[in-house]
Amino acid sequence: MQPPDAGHRVPLYGLTRSELTELFQRWGLAQAHAGRLWNYLYLELAPTFDAMPELPDRVRARLAAETELLPLPVAQATDSSDGFTRKYLLTLADQKQIETVLMRFTGRVTACLSSQVGCAMGCVFCATGQMGYTRHLTPAEVVAQAVHVARALRSSASSQSQGVPSAGTRLRNVVLMGMGEPLHNYDAVLHAVDILRDPGGLALAGDRITLSTVGVVPGILRLAAERRSVNLAVSLHAATQPERMALVPVARTWPLDQLMAACRTYSEQTGRRIFYEWTLIEGQNDSPEQARTVGRLLRGMAAQVNLIPLNPTGGFAGIPTRPEAARIFQRILFEEFELPSTIRQRRGIDIAAGCGQLATADKSVES
Ligand code: SAH
Ligand code: SF4
Repeated sequence: MQPPDAGHRVPLYGLTRSELTELFQRWGLAQAHAGRLWNYLYLELAPTFDAMPELPDRVRARLAAETELLPLPVAQATDSSDGFTRKYLLTLADQKQIETVLMRFTGRVTACLSSQVGCAMGCVFCATGQMGYTRHLTPAEVVAQAVHVARALRSSASSQSQGVPSAGTRLRNVVLMGMGEPLHNYDAVLHAVDILRDPGGLALAGDRITLSTVGVVPGILRLAAERRSVNLAVSLHAATQPERMALVPVARTWPLDQLMAACRTYSEQTGRRIFYEWTLIEGQNDSPEQARTVGRLLRGMAAQVNLIPLNPTGGFAGIPTRPEAARIFQRILFEEFELPSTIRQRRGIDIAAGCGQLATADKSVES
């Protein structure tokens, strides 16, 4: 399903700088105005055309009539008790809702963006998967989330008195780990990445944008062939085909051996290491033997494992691995297989930090 027709208005956040320049050329407007508009969008983060006083009135009138800025009103904003995470439920033009998260861990500011409304992949433990798929996001809807976070950072910098820990005021890291499967929406997501990376705009470095996939093999191979300048994270969760199928139904379509072959191709062609995500579920994929199986699977590859204790969701009975079992899992990976790993901090758990959980809880607003 496509987003509703917004009267054929051009979504400005969906244009690269050269596409914006072409639009102004078609309109017979001076290139200097396109450059000024770009700066208003990404350097000043102007929320409305009225906040762009250096553009002549006739240019602003045309923009107001034929383009749109995608304001993404906040339906709900929730802070974790430690103040390190703020989670936004944002409203799209068709009233659908997505989650965008601002994280300030370990001195880094990171925006976690959604790529779809819902998700078609159906991972059993995931709140977004339990919701099902509604539609892809457009490039503009992905970029507008980053702009929203960049604005929030700027306004929190100007009201530091609230005691929120500061980790810089510029957005430097983006992860596509919110709602949706980014490689199921490849063109829109990669177009958005091009806009986010523009050095004269939000200027995110390619190695600070991480795209997380459930293992869409054709998408991984395409990223490799196109040598896209982004980091890749692959959600593994299990190191044998039967165990993986139980958690990640699309493993039937893209079996583990094909996935690992695609990952090898990706690393060979790009020279990049891959992050492997492993949601730790007690009694299901957290035993020392399972740590050894993943160790053997990834041995010799350019890999880092991100261990994520499960965030419990309504539609799945599993519980998170205990911290001690997570540490043993981590130690086996490192000591027996020289595989580096991190255990994701469970800060923000009190605001249902798992992807899709806020939107699920807020279903009443949607209907
Ligand atoms: N669709 C992509 C990106 C979004 S999900 C993917 O699956 O990779 C981002 C990460 O959060 C994935 O690794 C996913 O497995 C994990 N995740 C989803 N629900 C979770 C939950 N309830 N607890 C812990 N991790 C979860
Ligand atoms: Fe989709 Fe990722 Fe959730 Fe799986 S974990 S259902 S791929 S959002």
